[in-house]
Amino acid sequence: MRVVSIPMTTRFRGIIVREAALLPGEAGWGEWSPFLEYPPDVAEPWLRCAEEAAAGDWPAPVRDRVPVNVTVPAVDPERAHGIVLAGGCRTAKVKVAEPGQTTADDEARLEAVRDALGPDGRIRVDANGGWSVDDAVRAIGRLDRAAGGLEYAEQPVATVEELALVRRRVSVPIAADESIRRAEDPYRVRDLEAADIAVLKVQPLGGVRACLEIAERIGLPVVVSSALETSVGIAAGVALAAALPELPYACGLATVQLLTGDVVGASLLPVDGALPVGRPEVRTDRVEALAADPERVAHWEARLAEVRALRAVRKDQRP
Ligand SMILES: [Mg+2]
Repeated sequence: MRVVSIPMTTRFRGIIVREAALLPGEAGWGEWSPFLEYPPDVAEPWLRCAEEAAAGDWPAPVRDRVPVNVTVPAVDPERAHGIVLAGGCRTAKVKVAEPGQTTADDEARLEAVRDALGPDGRIRVDANGGWSVDDAVRAIGRLDRAAGGLEYAEQPVATVEELALVRRRVSVPIAADESIRRAEDPYRVRDLEAADIAVLKVQPLGGVRACLEIAERIGLPVVVSSALETSVGIAAGVALAAALPELPYACGLATVQLLTGDVVGASLLPVDGALPVGRPEVRTDRVEALAADPERVAHWEARLAEVRALRAVRKDQRP
C-alpha cells in the first residue's frame, strides 16, 4: 500500500488536505480514499472499488470520451464568469444556497455563468441540501429564470422525503446526490419518486460494476460524480460513465484540479469539455513526492486491517 497526502487548492467539503491509499493489483493501482471520519462499515464498499480497479475488472466501455461539467463555487459573478471561461466545458454546475448568501447572489452568479457559456451551454445548480421545501420551490423558480433555463437542481433539500415534495412542485428536474450514499439508497429515491436523476459515485457504492447494476435497476438517468479522488480514483468513475448504455448528462468528474498534485503522468483533466476513457499510468516518483508521513501510513494500514476484520466477521455470520 502507498499513502499520499495532497493539499487542496481550495477548502472543499471542509478539508484542506486529501489523503488517499493506493493498492496494487494485477492490472495496476486502485484508489481507496474514504474520508477520514468514515468508520469501517462505511469504508468497506470504497475498498471493493479499489480492489476491482486493481484487478482490472471493469466493464467494456461503449464510448471513448466522457463529457464533464465545470464547477462554480459560491463566488461573485465576475469570478464565476472567469471560472466558466477557463473551464472550457459546455456544462456548468453552480453552487447555490450558500449560508450567508441570498437568492439574489445566486441569481447574479447564474446570470454571469449564462453570459460566459452562451445560449447553448447547460447550467445545473447544487444546493447541497441547503433549502427548506418552501424555500427550494421559490428559489428554483427564480434561479431557472436567472439562468435562462436550468438543466436540473441537485439536492435542493436534505432528505429523500423532502426531495419528493419539491419535485412535485417545480418543473425543473431534480437530482439526488447526498441522498445516495449507500447501496440501498438509490432504490429509496426511486420508490418515493424523489428525483429525475441519480448522482452515483463509484467508491461509496462499491465499484464500477456495482454502480452499473444500480443504474440498470433504478431506471433513472445517471450522473457519475467524484469523491475528490486522484486521477487513479477518477479513472474508475470514468470507467462507469464510459460503460453506461446512455449518458445524457455531463459528469462531475473534473475535480483533479482541486488537488495541488497528482500521482499519474497525464492527469484526468478535461480537454474540450471531456475526459478521455482509459487508465492513466501511475508515476512512482510522483507517489514518492506526495507520500504521507509514516504515522499517517500506519493510520491507513490500521484502517485497512479494520475493514478486513469486519469482512471476516460478516463472512462468519453468513448462514
Ligand atoms: Mg452535489
